[in-house]
Amino acid sequence: MSKISVLKFGGTSVKNIGRINHVVDIVSKQKNKCVVVVSAMGDTTDYLYDLAKRISATPNKREVDLLLSTGEQVSIALLTIALQERGIKAKSFTGAQIGIKTDNIHSCARIVDICKGSIRAALDEHDVIVVAGFQGQSDCGEITTLGRGGSDTSAVALAAAAGADECHIYTDVDGIFTTDPNKFPQAELLDTISYSETIELARAGAQVLHPRAAELARDFNIKLRVRNTFKPDNPGTLITGDSNVEKVCRVKGVALDSHQAYVSFIDIPWQFSFLTECETLFLRDNIIVDSVSQGKGSCENTRCVQLSLRYSDEAIFRTILDELKNQCGAKDVLIDLNVTRVSLVGAGIGNAPEIRSRAIATLNSARIEPRLYSSSESTISILIDEADSSRATQLLHDQFISLPEETECVAVTSPLTVGAHSSRQLAAASDSMRAGVS
Ligand code: ADP
Ligand code: ASP
Ligand code: MG
Repeated sequence: MSKISVLKFGGTSVKNIGRINHVVDIVSKQKNKCVVVVSAMGDTTDYLYDLAKRISATPNKREVDLLLSTGEQVSIALLTIALQERGIKAKSFTGAQIGIKTDNIHSCARIVDICKGSIRAALDEHDVIVVAGFQGQSDCGEITTLGRGGSDTSAVALAAAAGADECHIYTDVDGIFTTDPNKFPQAELLDTISYSETIELARAGAQVLHPRAAELARDFNIKLRVRNTFKPDNPGTLITGDSNVEKVCRVKGVALDSHQAYVSFIDIPWQFSFLTECETLFLRDNIIVDSVSQGKGSCENTRCVQLSLRYSDEAIFRTILDELKNQCGAKDVLIDLNVTRVSLVGAGIGNAPEIRSRAIATLNSARIEPRLYSSSESTISILIDEADSSRATQLLHDQFISLPEETECVAVTSPLTVGAHSSRQLAAASDSMRAGVS
């Protein structure tokens, strides 16, 4: 069987007919058989979602999936017509037609299987097959979508299923940078980055790659490269195995996530199983709980719960919070959406307390108040006011990347989450933690 390459082109790369013809130029130079995965043209997905939202604040998810999946269907047909026009033997497939099977969670479905036989059969007959990203079909025959940015995941899953030799994610920037190059001119291009750092950067909000694409690439050991559609000869960023992880831990990137909320439920009756109910409701709408803290309420037998969360659609999020408030009988719910999570990412940095305290000190010295912070193996995340997000990113990038200083990894016990309501409380919490590890 001949070698196979998977090439994925995002929305800006297929924004109009001129760009589709440019994609044909790139594909026509490939020596291997190709699986080409495409996103919807330009902002089509936003446009389609907006149409649904003009009819309903909380549109039915099955119908939304059916609607959004049409964007990719337009791209595959147009690109295939353009390839055929240049004499290339090509055929297009929707996710369902090529056999991408998913679970049945509309709007954030996960791929459970891909029919290898249908990819092989299609590649036996054609030099290029063009597959719609972002979509699949559940076992009851429903069209599903994989979550915003999910075409990257389609590409890597297809690379795994096809036994591809390489997978190239073509986008509108030169590769993966130390922070978003479109917002921060000091961002530096990374030649290589490990799978685990890429996963953490993506989870922390760096849009350049869908988090599950990086997870799949690691699990199936796919050679993955992120490169610029408009400079196709540049090497871009190679995503590789984790080699230096144990030796030096250093901050590799800074990412921002503005889809964050800080929510306080005041005076919930103790007998209500609040957290269980939260998990069920949040799961239904792909709301991710980053941290939870509980304390006594102002009246007898009540408690207050503070949550930091990630949401995707504000109207749907507010509807769910209302539902939860009614169910649990809380006296009040305070919702703050003017928060952003800034994250430092680098293999092992979550276990290096000096990096964490330097980050907090850097922000404090610029009068940026961390509302809450947490760390895991390779990430230190700090929740701050949205208004401070650009300044915080610049300061942290300067401190840890532009003026690098290698830090030997000092392992401490377990990942940590600290919520704080005043800088005094925060400093006290930070002091006692430092005392605990020395
Ligand atoms: P595509 O449509 O090709 O999938 P996306 O818009 O999803 O492209 O992702 C590319 C964008 O990701 C870039 O234009 C850039 O603004 C943003 N981005 C955020 N963080 C990073 C980063 N660390 N490195 C590169 N790009 C980033
Ligand atoms: N078109 C979808 C989106 O805009 C999927 C993708 O581009 O990866 O999110
Ligand atoms: Mg994308």
